[in-house]
Amino acid sequence: MNFDKATLCKNLNIQSSIFFYIIQIWNINLIDGIFVKKKHTIIIRSPILRQVRNSLRDVLISACSVEQSKIHDEEDRLREHDDYYENEEIQIAAKKLNDQYWEIERPLRASILLCPACFKTDKDMIFNPVRKEWYCIECYAKLKKGFTEEGQPEQFP
Ligand SMILES: [Zn+2]
Repeated sequence: MNFDKATLCKNLNIQSSIFFYIIQIWNINLIDGIFVKKKHTIIIRSPILRQVRNSLRDVLISACSVEQSKIHDEEDRLREHDDYYENEEIQIAAKKLNDQYWEIERPLRASILLCPACFKTDKDMIFNPVRKEWYCIECYAKLKKGFTEEGQPEQFP
C-alpha cells in the first residue's frame, strides 16, 4: 500500500479548506475528548501503517501550507504599497492576515501531525495534557528533563 502524494495533492487548492477543518476537528476532538486529562502516547509499529499515517500527515500539512501561501501572497501585495507602514487601513488588513496565518499555524503545531519542537512529521507522538500539544517521544523526553531541571516538572508530566 502506497499513497501517491502527487495524486492526493492534485486538487489540494480546491480541497485545502476541507483539510484545514479536518485538522481543527481533529484537535477539538482530542482536546475535548478522552485525552484531555492524561498523558497519552500513540505508537504505530507496523511499517505500512506508519507510511499511511505519514502520508496522511503530509497531505494535511500541505493543505495548511497552501492556505498559508495564499496569506503570504496577500501580505506581499499589501507590502507593495508605498505607505504600507503609515496607512492605517493597510496595517489593519496586515494584522488580520497575520491572525489568519496563526489560526492555521496554532492548531497545526498543537496537532498530532507534527512535533512543535523539532517539526518532524514522521514520529510517534505523546500528548501533553498541560500544554494540550503533541510532541514526538524524543522531544518530550528532552523537554521533560529540561523543565524538571528548571523546577517546573508539572509542565511535562
Ligand atoms: Zn520532536
